[in-house]
Amino acid sequence: MDHFLYRDGRLHAEEVPVSDIAAEVGTPFYVYSTATLTRHFRLFDEALEGVDHLVCYAMKAASNQAILKTLAGLGAGMDVVSGGEYARARAAGVPGDRIVFSGVGKTRDEMRMALEGGIRQFNVESEPEMRALDEVARGLGVRAPITVRVNPDVDAKTHAKIATGKSENKFGIPISRAREVYAQAARLEGLEVVGIDVHIGSQITELEPYRQAYEKVADLTRVLRADGHDIRRLDLGGGLGIPYERSNSAPPLPVEYGRLVRETLGDLGCEIEIEPGRLIAGNAGILVSRVIYVKSGEGRDFLILDAAMNDLIRPAMYDAWHDIVPVIEPAPGQEPRPYDVVGPVCETGDTFAKGRMMPELAEGDLVAFRSAGAYGAVMASEYNTRPLIPEVLVHEHQFAVIRARPSFDDMINRDTIPEWL
Ligand SMILES: *Cc1c(COP(=O)(O)O)cnc(C)c1O
Repeated sequence: MDHFLYRDGRLHAEEVPVSDIAAEVGTPFYVYSTATLTRHFRLFDEALEGVDHLVCYAMKAASNQAILKTLAGLGAGMDVVSGGEYARARAAGVPGDRIVFSGVGKTRDEMRMALEGGIRQFNVESEPEMRALDEVARGLGVRAPITVRVNPDVDAKTHAKIATGKSENKFGIPISRAREVYAQAARLEGLEVVGIDVHIGSQITELEPYRQAYEKVADLTRVLRADGHDIRRLDLGGGLGIPYERSNSAPPLPVEYGRLVRETLGDLGCEIEIEPGRLIAGNAGILVSRVIYVKSGEGRDFLILDAAMNDLIRPAMYDAWHDIVPVIEPAPGQEPRPYDVVGPVCETGDTFAKGRMMPELAEGDLVAFRSAGAYGAVMASEYNTRPLIPEVLVHEHQFAVIRARPSFDDMINRDTIPEWL
């Protein structure tokens, strides 16, 4: 249930006809549903009811401040992976003690910024990072709360570019070396060990990899406590997948995930943090685009849209599938036909779908890419000097532009010409 439904033959975002937004904002654009964001956050929150927990939304999935504010208002914390994200979360009103800082390459400047501004914890990913953080914290006369991200060496059975929990990935420290690393951390005066962190990847569609990882974390908790460390917090990462293709079987639900967390870690008396991104934002957003031309090729028809790979890169980058539906509901009984759905960018990679069965479409028609809320707008670029497309947030019958489309001048004037030219 994602609140993008046909009503009276027109696709709506909550109570707002998508075509009304298109008429006012122009295409292409992203539109998010407040009700869907809220529902998904609550599903996670409720899945851990009765356990001391904090849902830290992984804001890299969709980081517009209006989205952050919506979620923070429901009690969400944030998982940030850069100084920019930290600043954005704070600007959206998220208190520092609800922000966890992840990522393999935190710089000293980023560490200082978070320590001065307030931070719940750093999820440290290597020994050099640990030493740098210790130095920065001592310089400021504070102690940095940390977990160490352990790499449990499990196969998350997801796309290679988004698997993070195998020993060959760059993330975390091998779990086999955890005791040694925690012993080192305990000797550093600028650090305060508060727990363990693990995150095994993204778009994970079964629970088994989580079970394997969390059982290892449970064992490690007991071992580290026996070594004298105060392990009181477990950050379990994010990664639960969403059904991109409606015809496919559905990934596990947050409630089932919550049950697994209780089963594997519930008796340790730890505070639990989880970091879902995609499952909160993914189905809460669609990308709306207009057909520029229908071009007949040899043995195939191309649907040339005004959206391109620079607006939504997931198909080009991860071979990702997005359902693409017409904004005007097709008449019943209309025979679908195959289209290659492409954008205007000068690369063959600018292809959203090949041979996709769709109702017949014509120049000027609107289409919507479903499940485009996560890793959509945030990964957009201005390749081909195409402006970043607007983001719109819907709340019941209201909608607001939450990021405006820049003008050509806005884009061009960011360049500066050296005076010798
Ligand atoms: C990307 C990321 C997440 C979120 O992953 P999703 O698949 O969007 O849920 C959580 N934690 C960390 C450390 C990440 O890098």
